Amino acid sequence: MKKVHNFNAGPCVLPSPAIAAGIDSLKDFRGSGMSVVEISHRSKDWEAVMNETETLWRELLDIPGNYKVLFLAGGASLQFLMVPFNLLEKKAAYLETGIWAKKAFKEAQILGGDKAVKVASSADRNYTYVPKGYTIPADADYFHITTNNTIYGTEIHTDLNSPVPLVADMSSDVMSRPVDVTKYGLIYGGAQKNVGTAGVAFIIVREDILGKVTRPFPTILDYRTHIQNGSMFNTPPVFPILIMNETLKWVKAQGGVPGVYKKNVEKAAALYNEIDRNPLFTGTAEKADRSLMNICFVMNKGYESKEEAFLNYAKECGMVGIKGHRSVGGFRASVYNACPKESVEALVQCMQEFEKNNK
Ligand SMILES: *Cc1c(COP(=O)(O)O)cnc(C)c1O
Repeated sequence: MKKVHNFNAGPCVLPSPAIAAGIDSLKDFRGSGMSVVEISHRSKDWEAVMNETETLWRELLDIPGNYKVLFLAGGASLQFLMVPFNLLEKKAAYLETGIWAKKAFKEAQILGGDKAVKVASSADRNYTYVPKGYTIPADADYFHITTNNTIYGTEIHTDLNSPVPLVADMSSDVMSRPVDVTKYGLIYGGAQKNVGTAGVAFIIVREDILGKVTRPFPTILDYRTHIQNGSMFNTPPVFPILIMNETLKWVKAQGGVPGVYKKNVEKAAALYNEIDRNPLFTGTAEKADRSLMNICFVMNKGYESKEEAFLNYAKECGMVGIKGHRSVGGFRASVYNACPKESVEALVQCMQEFEKNNK
């Protein structure tokens, strides 16, 4: 297989043992003589995978018993509407820190109209920072944040204190750093950045925040339906859940969340240090809000015309996926849990060589 350094933003690099285990299960699921996509999701063997996956989540994030853990199809984007359907009665508060946050807010607005309020936004400077100094309305049903802004490379590094249930889209930083789950009412995300492949979303919800809305809503959008049915109200996406299971086993083998966090800090520091040192490049996010997962940078003043040349050079060096999102431009290196340190070191070296050849 050709060796590349995969910096894709999602779908993205996954732990190779998880891919290998996925291939084995596709061929023969745990010695059943059938592929994982051929078995009954009601079989004992599959139920064991569901239970094991939930147990891994609970262990790795230290999730208390009054929280339920769900695995549902539809990705993070379906959660943008499931959250207001389940929680919005009189007011929903949102922090707008990027395109994903904006999309989540839009769904609350569609359902609740003026009941959806934007508490603060960083749109004024193209989402290069995380707003601070705002007040979370104490009469809101919940406060929604996006902890890591995948496109802009900013991140909320602390667990906020919220007077109302805190709802967090953690699609792109879950399992990358320790979080105190008890600070949140609900955490959700698509699996395809840090915990597996597209096709499944994770939801961690404190059960007592549910069942408070008076308006009727569709059965399949009700978290309680999925809680009652152990995430198998309808046929679960078995293969994505299996890959999630294997990815979490890998996280555990790395020393759990503290283990991967330590490596993530080192990887991000190596790349940000080079961005700050190398006169050809400059970071786009405000330093205090820099993401550990998505590292955004552009050509420095005077070197703007070199952008295409650097992209080509990086490609020659085996770098994949470093072109920035169209709304930011420049470059973005996504360095999720499974991105090896060697890939970051190779990118740093590539930037240094490009500097030598172009100064
Ligand atoms: C990728 C991403 C999404 C979208 O996830 P889907 O599963 O494709 O719906 C939402 N929010 C954030 C922060 C993301 O990074």
